[in-house]
Amino acid sequence: MAKKQFKAESKKLLDLMINSIYTNREIFLRELISNCSDAIDKRHFMSLTDSKMAAEFSITLVPDKAARTLAITDNGCGMNKSEMENNLGTIAKSGTLEFKENQKTDENLIGQFGVGFYSAFMVADKVTVISLKAGETQAYKWESEGADGYTVTECEKAEAGTEITLHLKADDEDCEYGDFLDDYRLTNLIKKYSDYIRYPIKLGDKTLNSMVPLWRKRKSEVKPEEYAQFYKDKFYDFRDPAKVFSAQVEGNINYSMLAFVPEKAPYDYHTREYKKGLSLYSGGVLIMEKCSDLLPDYLGFFKGLIDSADISLNISRELLQKDRQLRAIATSLEKKLRGELSKWLKSDREGYEKMFAEFGNSLKLGAYDNFGAKKDDIKDLLLFKTSDDKLATFAEYVSRMKEGQDNIYYASGASVEAIKALPQVEMFLEKGYEILCLFDAIDEFVIKVIENYDGKKFVSVADKNAAAVTDEQKAELEKKSGDSEKLLAKMKEILAGKVKDVRLTARLKSAAACITSDSEISLEMERVLKAMPGSAGISADRVLEINPDHSAFVKMGELDLSGEKFADYTNALYNAALLQENLAVDDSAALAALLVKLL
Ligand code: ADP
Repeated sequence: MAKKQFKAESKKLLDLMINSIYTNREIFLRELISNCSDAIDKRHFMSLTDSKMAAEFSITLVPDKAARTLAITDNGCGMNKSEMENNLGTIAKSGTLEFKENQKTDENLIGQFGVGFYSAFMVADKVTVISLKAGETQAYKWESEGADGYTVTECEKAEAGTEITLHLKADDEDCEYGDFLDDYRLTNLIKKYSDYIRYPIKLGDKTLNSMVPLWRKRKSEVKPEEYAQFYKDKFYDFRDPAKVFSAQVEGNINYSMLAFVPEKAPYDYHTREYKKGLSLYSGGVLIMEKCSDLLPDYLGFFKGLIDSADISLNISRELLQKDRQLRAIATSLEKKLRGELSKWLKSDREGYEKMFAEFGNSLKLGAYDNFGAKKDDIKDLLLFKTSDDKLATFAEYVSRMKEGQDNIYYASGASVEAIKALPQVEMFLEKGYEILCLFDAIDEFVIKVIENYDGKKFVSVADKNAAAVTDEQKAELEKKSGDSEKLLAKMKEILAGKVKDVRLTARLKSAAACITSDSEISLEMERVLKAMPGSAGISADRVLEINPDHSAFVKMGELDLSGEKFADYTNALYNAALLQENLAVDDSAALAALLVKLL
């Protein structure tokens, strides 16, 4: 009998399948099962108005090792002759085809996409489809060995539905096709890709799929252990999740969400290898794992999935990125997850703080990213240590601000203790002001980009305008500065190249001197920036500020400005300030010699 030829486009896709450019051949099963499910959906729908169509719906897998065939059977709507020719001889999704040919993305990702019925040819060199359309009596057999076309002949079939038989390819170095006859392998593939198909998928007397998606159930109907088990199975963690969020979102766009926050960051979380994303399902069928377009980077620590009937099953990655529905889901999801985090912060502070210890930096980066484009959405999710040695939100800090305190004061350092020991901090603490303590490299950048909270500016304790001085103190300081003009000028001369200026300050109490920065780049930022490549030339404008009431300064005023002793004292004072600030001294050997000399 003469073979019919595939339509040109279909032939191209078929060629690609046969010469399989994919490493991910296993998805053929997902594709065929998904077709079975659709066919049953159709008959199911008809049965609502036509009781003759009713049946006990199921999908059956029959592996036959001796014959080296895998049969996939459904009792769905079935196909008649012309439907077979039209549906199995043509490829509808030319978008998928173009995508395949260009092969723009890595193969594994491509393999996550619907390639439909032809994916059978990734694993089989001959495919037989026997089908009886529901409500008709004549069954047909469609058969093809691939590129050279197909035949359709009449045959016998008692029950309505479709049976697809794959004659598996011979094993080669690429793939052991015979594995697809293995019960264990089949069970795992069904669990992995088709667990939530609404109809039972049977192998022998076992049903392999759970059928009811966990994410479609109300949270109260699911036991915590069930969520935990699901999380561990799907997302390869051995720990229970720290938090589970489940929601049915309805509105302009409809989707179910099941999201988890891991207890600990995955080992590769802070590397480039880490792939963020949620799994994307369309009507219970897995379209892709780790769909990165669903999550912004700062929420990249979430694991989980989205299921939306609004997303078409057979959509290519390229189209997916541009997909309006997907973008709408991503936007809605981002808001939803932020809302959940916010609720978490209010309802379970301890748990939230643990999460923040693991993933807080991601949220901070989110606030900083893109010049702070999302800072207003994220700022209330951030926590910072304060001089109280507890974590606080900005709102909490502001609510505790003292009478007369206009700004939110922050300081950078290695620990709360180190920050409290900073000379500039003493006065603030004495007034009862709390200090935001910044430890991480990015903290100060985040604060700078947020600028203010609730109308209160973030001000560094090192900022020269930060000192909360009265007008009287200011006037007094000016007078003292005038009196010491020559002395300060001489110190500046001695410290030329090390500091930009030497001046008196009213901000110090027990310390003799401190180092501050006059430029936008603080000492802490300088430290961070200097550690980055290409940072040459970036530096803070260092200033030595002196406490005029300190005995060391009073003593210096009694010395001969051009004498050696004055120069030594100046250097000692400068180095002491560096050390107190945890800054590197310029020349430790010279400093050691100076100390001994002063003894
Ligand atoms: P898609 O499912 O995206 O339409 P496929 O290439 O997977 O693309 O399938 C092509 C068509 O073949 C389907 O739309 C359907 O009409 C028909 N078909 C495939 N498998 C079956 C089946 N098991 N029962 C009935 N019809 C089927």
